[in-house]
Amino acid sequence: MTEASRTSEPSRRVRIIARPALPIPQTGPVRREAGAWRDRFGRPLTDLRISVTDHCNFRCRYCMPKEKFAKNHQFLAMTELLTFEEILRVAKIAVRNGVEKIRLTGGEPLVRRSIEELVADLALLRTPDGRPIDLAMTTNGSLLMKKAEALKAAGLKRLTVSLDAIDEAIFQGFNDVGFPAAKVLEAIDFARSLGLRVKVNTVVKKGVNEGEVVRIAERFRGTGVVPRFIEYMDVGNANDWRMAEVVPSRDVVAMIAARWPLEPVAPSTPGETASRWRYRDGAGEFGVISSVTENFCRSCSRVRLSMEGRLYLCLFASIGYDIRTMLRGGCTDGELEEALGRIWTEREDRYSELRALGAAPERSKVEMNYIGG
Ligand code: SAM
Ligand code: SF4
Ligand code: SF4
Repeated sequence: MTEASRTSEPSRRVRIIARPALPIPQTGPVRREAGAWRDRFGRPLTDLRISVTDHCNFRCRYCMPKEKFAKNHQFLAMTELLTFEEILRVAKIAVRNGVEKIRLTGGEPLVRRSIEELVADLALLRTPDGRPIDLAMTTNGSLLMKKAEALKAAGLKRLTVSLDAIDEAIFQGFNDVGFPAAKVLEAIDFARSLGLRVKVNTVVKKGVNEGEVVRIAERFRGTGVVPRFIEYMDVGNANDWRMAEVVPSRDVVAMIAARWPLEPVAPSTPGETASRWRYRDGAGEFGVISSVTENFCRSCSRVRLSMEGRLYLCLFASIGYDIRTMLRGGCTDGELEEALGRIWTEREDRYSELRALGAAPERSKVEMNYIGG
């Protein structure tokens, strides 16, 4: 299948200015411990996030506000996107070297045509000791009714669906394209009926959807769906983020605790970003992701691969490594593996920790629809 036939995004203007890239280190050690590459702070690389498209059918105000992502916005040309074969090649090498979790994201991953073919290939990957990888996808849910069966058949087991409100006016105010919350809820139920495990991501923005926190918690109590309330973050520059718009996770927990008695749950994996809480009455659990008020840089084990093959070592990075040129320049798997290992070995990113110290570098950051969350 050709790359063009795999991509359903409308035809695009070709980008004129090439995105800058960091030079790939050609020499130097590759640090490794217990089967995984280690960065300068000893953090293992266990988690790969792959953003498969920069295009999205929503214009969430905190991610792709319409003023900055207008109808004539220059998205990437199809030829600039990594092919599924190229993505798979990087993923295989990463899994051979300690990656156990892969998440597909975007933009909106379900607008990339035949995405289930990539899911099917990734679902077959095994860790060196023979375990299946933990493969998941984050989606806005708008195309899930159409795609859930194909994703399930391809071997996907877990989905995260973003849903910032149940109230229609608030939800449609967020996505800014008039897409109904009721349709996302319907798609979640459908995905669950197929046996997919579902988490829900809710970004909480002060003065906008705090009132939806308890409502979302209530909607999913007793269903097995785990909501995760995320602090509004300063990713990219398009959203004009302000600290005053952040609702600290402790306030979210307090709102829910005021309604139902809670107890904390121990993290299930060392690099887990969400703090987990469970209802004492056994109605399930929820999580909070406090990347602004309680950063988790010290255990950050994630790398992000963009749709055009740039590798980013931090969600708040401004520049990434150009893997695509290597891939298309005829590198061997061994050369690619060495390069990826060196890049991770040199990593010293800890943006949120520096932000908490008031020392975050002032710089232009990669936008969320590009880096994928
Ligand atoms: N389009 C898909 C979706 O919305 O689920 C996947 C990509 S989206 C960039 C990934 C996640 O990032 C979503 O759950 C979204 O709500 C979250 N997100 C986007 N901008 C954010 C911001 N400024 N702060 C916190 N989370 C954000
Ligand atoms: Fe699209 Fe997801 Fe960004 Fe919303 S958060 S604009 S759905 S990429
Ligand atoms: Fe990881 Fe960067 Fe987030 Fe820190 S700020 S947790 S290093 S992605």
